[in-house]
Amino acid sequence: MSDLSNRKLSLTTRVAQALHFLDADTGAVIPPIQPTSTYARDADYAPRQSYIYRRDSNQTTELAERIIAELEGAESALLFASGMSAATAVIDQLPAGAHVVVPDVMYHGVLQQFQMYAARNRLDVSTYAAGNLDDMAAALRKGETALVWVETPNNPDWTVTDIRAAADITHAAGARLLTDCTGTPPCATKALEHGADISFHSATKYLNGHSDVTAGVLSSNDTGPLWEAIYERRKLQGTVLHSFDAWLLIRGMRTLFLRVEKATQNALAIARHFEGHKGLEAVLYPGLPSHPGHAIAKKQTGGLYGGMMSIIVAGTEQTAIDVTRHAKVFYPATSLGGVESLIEHRKTVSGEGFPVHPRLLRLSIGIEDADDLIYDLEQALAHAQG
Ligand SMILES: *Cc1c(COP(=O)(O)O)cnc(C)c1O
Repeated sequence: MSDLSNRKLSLTTRVAQALHFLDADTGAVIPPIQPTSTYARDADYAPRQSYIYRRDSNQTTELAERIIAELEGAESALLFASGMSAATAVIDQLPAGAHVVVPDVMYHGVLQQFQMYAARNRLDVSTYAAGNLDDMAAALRKGETALVWVETPNNPDWTVTDIRAAADITHAAGARLLTDCTGTPPCATKALEHGADISFHSATKYLNGHSDVTAGVLSSNDTGPLWEAIYERRKLQGTVLHSFDAWLLIRGMRTLFLRVEKATQNALAIARHFEGHKGLEAVLYPGLPSHPGHAIAKKQTGGLYGGMMSIIVAGTEQTAIDVTRHAKVFYPATSLGGVESLIEHRKTVSGEGFPVHPRLLRLSIGIEDADDLIYDLEQALAHAQG
């Protein structure tokens, strides 16, 4: 029974063990951090392995990439110093004047980046109503559009997009589909299996999970010229993930499955408790059967809806801001996907000009005790609403 040669170990096992890392010399079960910036060549002046200089890549970052590639079912994964530098590498390799189709509501930093490229006539950017496939299809120009960007579930109202349907529409027009599923990491949503060409994640969020790293990752099964161009961007713009951060990321990913399961359980408990609450106008969470994207979310996450939700507070914009001020367990901070719960007034954070409901609070539900989180939101609402 000890012969594992015919057994395909589950992803949970492989990720918990960092692909069964074992240092052959010492027996260490934890990988070392390789901080070197340069690598000495051998007696024939040839590189000893594939490494020459840290800006190209390094062993610690490559191990983290192999783990993510396993999670995504990808041929290759490339890690960057932040989600934004990973997103920018894709945007920046597009030829001058290329046509792209992006959602009108999405993570504000990526939208801002597209707007900046458009303002300089570097890209031709069309938008579609987030989650609306007919609108997406209408924005596509057959044989001309290079890239379609989908964020699902999308910030900050957690609209759900059917990735398979989006891929069919995109491919029929000869374009490539990139998905940002940062809200449901690849233990829940395997975007490439649903038809995406490139899967993007801010690894700052669930993949690392401990609010102590910024990182971004791209995964793909198409490692042709586009992938080479993206790798070249990373190398020449110097945006590879640092080995120290890669090491923390490897440690964080060992508990990815546990964290996302617990965050989902907590979020479901909180969403069910507050749905219909007199202090709220709405609870936006794809895990609720009343959410318009529930069926697709269920299909795309296998029920691991994650910990991201938003609430629309009854009262005024100031009432909503006051709820964050009265929270004692939730931290009033931006970001998401960490073990600690966060609450934020999204309009304050994303800034003027970004379409977001003025009374929307975005919640990132962590792995604390669900009853403590419910208690905290109840008391914060009571204080803010008098
Ligand atoms: C955080 C985030 C990003 C940007 O990633 P950084 O790691 O902050 O640079 C992009 N998309 C989504 C959905 C995010 O939540």
